Amino acid sequence: MPHVAFAPFTGFRVREPEMLELGMSLPGLAPRARAIAGLPSLGLLTLAGMTPETWTRSWHAVERCTQQWVEEIVDCAPDIVAISALTASVDEAYEFSRTVRERGFRTVIGGLHATTCADEAVEHCDSVVVGEGEPVWQNVLCDAERGELAPVYRSNSPTPDWPLPQFDLLGCNPPRYTIQTQRGCPFACDFCAASRLISPFREKPVEAIAAELSAICGMASRPLLELADDNTFARSRDVAELLDVLTDSGVRYFTEADWRIGERPDVLTRLASSGCEQVLIGLESLVFRYPGLGAKGAELNRMMDAVYAIQEAGVAVNGCFIVGADGETERSLDALTLFILESSLADVQVTLQTPFPGTDLRQRLRRAGRLLDERGWSSYTLFDLTYQPDKLTVEQLESGFRRVLTDVFSSAASTRRNQIRRSILRSRRDLTDRAVQPDSGNDER
Ligand code: SF4
Repeated sequence: MPHVAFAPFTGFRVREPEMLELGMSLPGLAPRARAIAGLPSLGLLTLAGMTPETWTRSWHAVERCTQQWVEEIVDCAPDIVAISALTASVDEAYEFSRTVRERGFRTVIGGLHATTCADEAVEHCDSVVVGEGEPVWQNVLCDAERGELAPVYRSNSPTPDWPLPQFDLLGCNPPRYTIQTQRGCPFACDFCAASRLISPFREKPVEAIAAELSAICGMASRPLLELADDNTFARSRDVAELLDVLTDSGVRYFTEADWRIGERPDVLTRLASSGCEQVLIGLESLVFRYPGLGAKGAELNRMMDAVYAIQEAGVAVNGCFIVGADGETERSLDALTLFILESSLADVQVTLQTPFPGTDLRQRLRRAGRLLDERGWSSYTLFDLTYQPDKLTVEQLESGFRRVLTDVFSSAASTRRNQIRRSILRSRRDLTDRAVQPDSGNDER
């Protein structure tokens, strides 16, 4: 039987040595890094799920490519190696592809980076899947069997089906499972590529969501899920239907949404009881209003009111901030630190503005000659600077960003947020019948 080896590059990467040291040492940062590193690649799990029974398959998730890992894959004698990688790990993925091709194996790469940089990816892999993998996966496998892979497989229309990912490839008790309730996002924030490049915004039918939840619950008791949605509840779907399937499944989950759910009683009243423990909310930049925010753009006070309404409903909020937008100064960095430390956010995420391929932000900075191309894709980690700021030098923004992280993720600040999370979980128990373990998973966010 032909064999396909799935090789997702996972993990959390930081390039700059001082940043790396900070990331590993700050109490509030390291657990989140571990949690991100443990997230499985839903794209490849889905392709595995739709691979015909006439193929055998193996799963080889890796944080760092090692010789031992390469040998493990080569030992499977795959007819094709399917690779997925983010921008920060794509150079490692290309190097891996070259290595296995030299050993006589063929590779295909897909995902957001490969979709936006197909001409680059095809120089390193036998084939590139541009856009969604599902519509073209059977063609890739047929061509691989015949030994006639095309350089590019382009999905011209969104997948009509929602195949069941093959979750059992993750083995027993993975730290988290992922599912999607939708793809893309109706907004178009100019720093965001995830929202529309792979697929236009679409909501998954609840029947397909229920099938995935059922498959996961068949393998794990009360599993912890990360919804791999860009913006859950973003449109006008019947949220009651979605919250029903989540509630009935008994899962616990984290998700990403925008602050407007804090103004929606139909979501708020049922979010905690549906198993949602934490929601990431993009509060973005305090100094720059990004183009494309759409209905998500609002005054900070209104957004924070909504955030606190979510927390009062028993769900912790991880407020996400972007540092380094146009207009950022030493003073604004200090103001951001103060704002975060004085807020009652249960958790925070602070990252550097990053001009990922395919974004309007990248085009803007490129036109202005401000991209630091020499730093390479491996610096696209969200923690390394990749462009020239407008009001600060590169060194000023780098050291200012480290200062923000040091203060925001200090031991005292992290302890305070832990207490806020505990108090939200306590109030949540009063609000729901659901038995929730204190701090279950939240500290890893
Ligand atoms: S709301 Fe979030 S997912 Fe949607 S475009 Fe903006 S950043 Fe991307």
